[in-house]
Amino acid sequence: MQPIGGGYLNNINPATGLEICKIPDSGAGDVEKAFLSAKQAFPSWSQLPAAARADYLYKIADLIDRDLDMLAEAESIDNGKPLSLAKKVDIPRASANLRFYAGAVLHDHSEFHDMGKTGFNYTLRRPVGVAACISPWNLPLYLFTWKVAPALAAGNTVVAKPSEVTPLTAFLFSKLCIEAGLPPGVLNIVHGTGPGAGNAMVEHPGIPVISFTGGTQTGAHIARTAAPMFKKLSLELGGKNPNLIFADCDLDKAVKTACLAAFTNQGEICLCGSRIYVEKSIYAAFMEKFIPAVEQLKVGAPDAADTRIGAIVSEAHFNKILACIALAKSEGGTCITGGKAVNLPAPHDKGFFIEPTVITGLPPACRTNREEIFGPVVSVGTFESEEEAIALANGTNYGLAAVVFTNNLSRAHRVAAQIDSGIVWVNCWLLRDLRTPFGGMKQSGVGREGGFEALHFFTEAKNVCISY
Ligand code: NDP
Repeated sequence: MQPIGGGYLNNINPATGLEICKIPDSGAGDVEKAFLSAKQAFPSWSQLPAAARADYLYKIADLIDRDLDMLAEAESIDNGKPLSLAKKVDIPRASANLRFYAGAVLHDHSEFHDMGKTGFNYTLRRPVGVAACISPWNLPLYLFTWKVAPALAAGNTVVAKPSEVTPLTAFLFSKLCIEAGLPPGVLNIVHGTGPGAGNAMVEHPGIPVISFTGGTQTGAHIARTAAPMFKKLSLELGGKNPNLIFADCDLDKAVKTACLAAFTNQGEICLCGSRIYVEKSIYAAFMEKFIPAVEQLKVGAPDAADTRIGAIVSEAHFNKILACIALAKSEGGTCITGGKAVNLPAPHDKGFFIEPTVITGLPPACRTNREEIFGPVVSVGTFESEEEAIALANGTNYGLAAVVFTNNLSRAHRVAAQIDSGIVWVNCWLLRDLRTPFGGMKQSGVGREGGFEALHFFTEAKNVCISY
């Protein structure tokens, strides 16, 4: 649909610097149209039996699987990520999200509280209404569907905005929804900028529930806008995740995982382990294996089979990461490997590529160790005791995820319990079970996604109390 204002944005392929397409620069008027369409569809969608809503989600999931190759290519072109990663992780996870919430709504149940001879209570859960879903550019279809699926399954209709930086797969997804027969108005995808379309969604008085994933500053702005309107709010924000490697770990596994945790998706995952702390007694042994492992990660064309690190998502983000590396050096850090932009031959000579970068020698309290970089940059430091490791892990304003490497079972439990983060992985990273609560503490967010938490977030609970 044409944007009311008639404006369009350029969508750039970050691996070539060339334009892929133009996308509508939607504004408040377009959001209003999307809202009215969602509002009109709400009564019939919310009154469908859960099984009928689930059927739509299953159908869309099947179509995503059918078009996996095409969707993965679009994701890779739009975001710069390796095609192999999009095929293995992003797109399969998008269909898994839809199937998971189709299944969840079929297995949801309500609470009953017995008051003995006096009476009893039961809980009714009803969809909230028109939901706003706003998602970022790093895992475009993966995170878009992670919000849209529970919102729709619970019976809401949706106005959703993907990042304007990576709009392609959300657009292709809308075509699959139409093919699956999803009734008009149930899902309304608005393309445009955050300050334009996104803000209009947040400010809209008719939208009572917002699920947002993105940066902490944007989250704070959304919270300030939404709070006086008493909107339901789920905020999944940034991270500066610690990876604690104890001397009693399986070193080879720790090295391999630390490499993945730091550099998968060019380090552009909120869960990336961007601060590695190694017990001092094994620091030299760790670095001896870790640095060659990092240097083996091939930076290259996203569609090449051996590429492990693709393009940074945009020129602006590329410049931000290079500025962060310069800051790290000015704070006293040493680049042990990486630290520079990579020039690839044509047609990628105008693309935005950065070497995987390992920095050491930084004090824990410096900006590089406290602020999110969201790129292929990791800092490595040491600790001498369990207490120090925990203090280092907790030494930022973020609290999204942490990794602990140890073969001492008691230590694993002890340390996991004391780290202030929503997720702690022990001897692994990014091992996901969609039933588990997902979200951050401190400035990493408010609320939890995943499992029934997300499904229930998109409902209002009502207690009905009956007296005998
Ligand atoms: P942003 O906060 O810039 O943007 C996220 C989304 O919000 C985009 O769709 C953006 O639109 C939109 N947006 C921007 N400004 C506003 C506004 N004023 N009102 C409403 N919507 C707005 O984050 P990035 O896209 O840069 O994503 C990277 C960040 O996301 C990192 O900090 C990362 O840690 C975090 N993240 C967190 C995750 C989690 O689960 N905790 C998972 C993945 C990422 P547009 O881009 O079109 O301007």
